[in-house]
Amino acid sequence: MMNHHDIFSGLFGGMGGLFSSAEAMLHQAFHPKSDDITVSLEVTLSDVYLGKKKSVVLDRKKGCGGCRGAGRVMTPCRACQGQGISMTAIQPFPGYIQQVAQECQLCRGTGYAGRGNCPTCHGQGALVEKRQLDVRIPRDCKKNHEIVFDGLGHHLPGEESGDAVVVLRVRDHPVFTRRGAHLFMEKEISLAEAMCGVELVVDTLDGRSLLIRNNPSAMVKPSSIRAVESEGMPVSLQHSHNLTYGNLYIKFKVKFPEVLDAETCGKLKDLMPSSSPLNIDRTREGVEEVILSEFDTSEERNPLDEDSDDDYSFEPGIQCAHQ
Ligand SMILES: [Zn+2]
Ligand SMILES: [Zn+2]
Repeated sequence: MMNHHDIFSGLFGGMGGLFSSAEAMLHQAFHPKSDDITVSLEVTLSDVYLGKKKSVVLDRKKGCGGCRGAGRVMTPCRACQGQGISMTAIQPFPGYIQQVAQECQLCRGTGYAGRGNCPTCHGQGALVEKRQLDVRIPRDCKKNHEIVFDGLGHHLPGEESGDAVVVLRVRDHPVFTRRGAHLFMEKEISLAEAMCGVELVVDTLDGRSLLIRNNPSAMVKPSSIRAVESEGMPVSLQHSHNLTYGNLYIKFKVKFPEVLDAETCGKLKDLMPSSSPLNIDRTREGVEEVILSEFDTSEERNPLDEDSDDDYSFEPGIQCAHQ
């Protein structure tokens, strides 16, 4: 049988979808849809890495079968058991008794005593059923990732089922930040480690421990980034069940010692490649010696602040070039 939807598809469908929104509106008018159910499911980055399966339970409203969603039911008349007629014995002449069908006096022949609440749904017209949904966490799960289950939302009588929407919310990881297929982390190391080689242990999202070493001859400069190949997030390859992995990137923060005593400074100077001597005569008139002082960039009146009155702006690129 052709329904409204087919008829309107027939009318508008041939016009290249020009009326698709009008069609959708008409479809909506003839086929009202029950509400969607949206549930949040918190997952860890480890769950995403492992592509774990999780379950959610929905409270799904369904039309009551007992009253077809009306909430109220007709109660049969007790006098006539819903027949609408009652049998009365009459005696047309002595010695003869006849049963005659008469309209039930109590319900006036309707068979019903009146309307009452449906005992199944207590007048609500709908029942709430628990429905479990199994969700496989996709590898490309975004921070707020929606998975739609068509037709598993509320379903009230005379309406099409709504959809169930499961929103996967990926909790922040204490160590890793995800960007696409890659993982990023920061690691603070000492100046000695930066110069002489660093070793660190990183616990992976699938429960392994990586012992990561840096080649001692390759110094780790402050804020430099090193990669551990294929220790990022798994990515499903197209048309295949095989996985490929992004990289783990580690940004090193080098913690410099707060102070160095003169003896240590002397030893270090002897050990380190020296800088070229200054081309200045300290005793010449017009030469002034000044000491660098601390500059607190967090101070309220920061002369390098973009909001300060003059136009001077801090250019990190220029600062680097002068180093
Ligand atoms: Zn009911
Ligand atoms: Zn009756």
